[in-house]
Amino acid sequence: MVLSVLIAVTVVSSIGAGLAAVLTISEYFLSNYGPCQITINDERKLTVQGGKDLLSMLTAEKIFIPSACGGRATCGLCKLKVLEGAGPLLPTEEPFLNREEKESNVRLSCQVKVRNDLKIEIPPELFAIRQFSCRCAEIIDLTYDIKQFRFELKEPKTIDYIPGQYIQLLTPAYEKNSEEVYRAYSISSDPTDKNNIELIIRLVPGGICTTYCFEYLKVGDEVKINGPYGNFRLSDTDAPIVFIAGGSGMAPIKCILHQMKNEGIKRKATYYFGANTIKDMFMAEQMRTFEKELADFCFVPAVAKPQGDEKWDGQIGLVTEVFRRDLKDATEYEAYLCGSPGMIDASIKVLTELGINKDNIFYDKFE
Ligand SMILES: Cc1cc2nc3c(=O)[nH]c(=O)nc-3n(C[C@H](O)[C@H](O)[C@H](O)COP(=O)(O)OP(=O)(O)OC[C@H]3O[C@@H](n4cnc5c(N)ncnc54)[C@H](O)[C@@H]3O)c2cc1C
Repeated sequence: MVLSVLIAVTVVSSIGAGLAAVLTISEYFLSNYGPCQITINDERKLTVQGGKDLLSMLTAEKIFIPSACGGRATCGLCKLKVLEGAGPLLPTEEPFLNREEKESNVRLSCQVKVRNDLKIEIPPELFAIRQFSCRCAEIIDLTYDIKQFRFELKEPKTIDYIPGQYIQLLTPAYEKNSEEVYRAYSISSDPTDKNNIELIIRLVPGGICTTYCFEYLKVGDEVKINGPYGNFRLSDTDAPIVFIAGGSGMAPIKCILHQMKNEGIKRKATYYFGANTIKDMFMAEQMRTFEKELADFCFVPAVAKPQGDEKWDGQIGLVTEVFRRDLKDATEYEAYLCGSPGMIDASIKVLTELGINKDNIFYDKFE
């Protein structure tokens, strides 16, 4: 009896081991496309081992294409032209490309698998994007779910960026996540300090990067970032400004306010900052200081739902309700919005109803 059980166990284990070996070998052959050549802008040639997506292969070669979702085809930022070798457009790419882009072979580099030789075109300015080794120098609690992180640049030691731009933070593999991923974070610091980058990060429950930042990252740890990226920035007109943000959307607006102070920009500006409850409000003191330092700046914090025992003598209501009441006519304004997609879409709707020219609305959606 015991012998037959032993024989059965041995047979089942051997079949299991055999199947695992077959799977490993077939995966190796199916995803191994051998060496492939990527020709960039008709000048530079890279030889890579085929099998992975184009975005991660370029990143491994230190060519940094903007991307904010870590290759999940949800941000649509990693566009580039693939002139030869990409195969047909995938349904995951369709929603992000207009007709003109499709006709000129624009693709999402995170969705294009490198299986053969490719010919691609990359805007030359992207070659200027660098990777920076940093040390986490400071972590400050701003609210129960928002922290400010300061990263001191070690190599290279300084960064040049336009206020409003973002960097990508590399999350290493850790206990709760087996692969490195990049996520986008807007720079919040004073741009005159080129040796440090500050970020304002909100914890997304279960999120890969924010869980790492909140639960694992410690002062003194090494961190890698790359950048700068993005077109969100102050225009050089004299139009009055309305800034609208919520939560960690504070980050790029704060950076632009530093810029206005540093460069003596005297434009009229009103900043509507929305928080759900008083516990979600932060940096009000610093914004009051900007009111004293800038020529014509006003900070309007708004709390949507003050809780029963909370004392709040500022504006009450959704940020959209508050600026609708206040602004009345936005025809002459430029608007700079930052935060969740829901808040941005709702703000664009109200601003349009208040008469703003759509070309004068600039935003970064944190999606
Ligand atoms: C240009 C740009 C700039 C950004 N700047 C900032 C910034 O300054 N500060 C900041 O905190 N974030 C910023 N973000 C958002 C940030 O890049 C990440 O998406 C976010 O921190 C979540 O990353 P994660 O790895 O923790 O979560 P993931 O592992 O990517 O996501 C976990 C789950 O949560 C969902 N999810 C992702 N993001 C959110 C969200 N914001 N709210 C609710 N659910 C979400 C996902 O769909 C997924 O289901 C920015 C995004 C963009 C595109």
